Amino acid sequence: MTYLDYQATTPIAPEVEQAMAPWIADRFANPHSPSRWGNEAEAAIEVARKRIEKAVDLRGGRIAFTGSATEALNWALKGTVENARATRQDGRNRVITVATEHAAVLDTCEWLAEQGIDLTILPVDREGRLDLDLLARELDDRVLMVAVMMVNNEIGVTQAISAISRMAHGVGAIMVCDAVQAFGRVEICEGPDLVALSAHKIHGPKAIGALWMRKGKEPAPLIHGGGQELGLRSGTLSPALCVGFGAAAKLAAERMTKDYDLVQRLSAAAKHALGPDWIINGSTAHRYPGNLSIRRDGIDAARLLADLRDMAFSLGSACASGSGRPSHVLRAIGLDYREARSSIRLGFGRYTTQQDLVAACKQLATAAKAQEHLVA
Ligand code: PLP
Repeated sequence: MTYLDYQATTPIAPEVEQAMAPWIADRFANPHSPSRWGNEAEAAIEVARKRIEKAVDLRGGRIAFTGSATEALNWALKGTVENARATRQDGRNRVITVATEHAAVLDTCEWLAEQGIDLTILPVDREGRLDLDLLARELDDRVLMVAVMMVNNEIGVTQAISAISRMAHGVGAIMVCDAVQAFGRVEICEGPDLVALSAHKIHGPKAIGALWMRKGKEPAPLIHGGGQELGLRSGTLSPALCVGFGAAAKLAAERMTKDYDLVQRLSAAAKHALGPDWIINGSTAHRYPGNLSIRRDGIDAARLLADLRDMAFSLGSACASGSGRPSHVLRAIGLDYREARSSIRLGFGRYTTQQDLVAACKQLATAAKAQEHLVA
């Protein structure tokens, strides 16, 4: 099996597995209990927190653990609206986001719109980038919050997060950034007030995320209860998951340059092996190289996936739900239905070998060519 779906999730690093093991086996104490065992678990969580904060490398804030990045984004968006309502900033009722955001942002924003928020979803250009002049025209003192992701999960395109944050701050708005696909792979841009992170995209465990919060911009709690995480996010923390996230973040920070150089080399090798018939979706200049979203005219990508069962990659045409609907991201960059249906996403990283990737790309190219003969 050649695993080429690093945007969906990543394999657990051996170092992470090792760090988690004792906290799964016999060190089971509740980290919020006052016993010695509880204190040890709490101390391990605090070490993990520091490691993640160091890897985020932004000044003036802290992280709170969450159950996923989806939860972190829900919390950031809904909690910021809640804060504005509680402090009677009623004049600020607008939220601006972008058409290529993850469903965790788009669906939450749509829900906020149903609750009375004035929502603006800005388009992107054919490269998948937000036009900053367009954003500038939309910004005024009615805007409460701007939410833009750093690296797109489907096409790998990056946005100018520091510039966008400066513009949002210029009108007094709060900047939310989904950095799930960026964290541990590239440096996090300075500027955002709230940054969502996920462990399983950086060789850590699933079902744990975090929200980095600038001091004074913490969203109102979404989850109420025992008052954990400074009363901002209740619920017993899992020492195993927190320690695993911390180990993954430390490793990612230490290896960032090495991993980035590797994905750059892998990307070049993959493009060479695929041959000239494939077109890259989105910007080639502003993208994370470990995400190769490509299409080839006339092919049925779903058929490719069915033909190549020993390979894991993603389709551009269907959402995660397998609905078969063209992806909202590919539509947003102007692809028509046929182009979206002929798109695939290859995602690779730390544990991908060039040999496996090249072999997989050659298989893909052959299978795609075979479809041409079928049509002819
Ligand atoms: N945002 C982006 C860009 C993602 O790729 C993902 C995961 O697919 C998420 C948010 C949600 O992360 P999680 O799986 O931790 O809820």
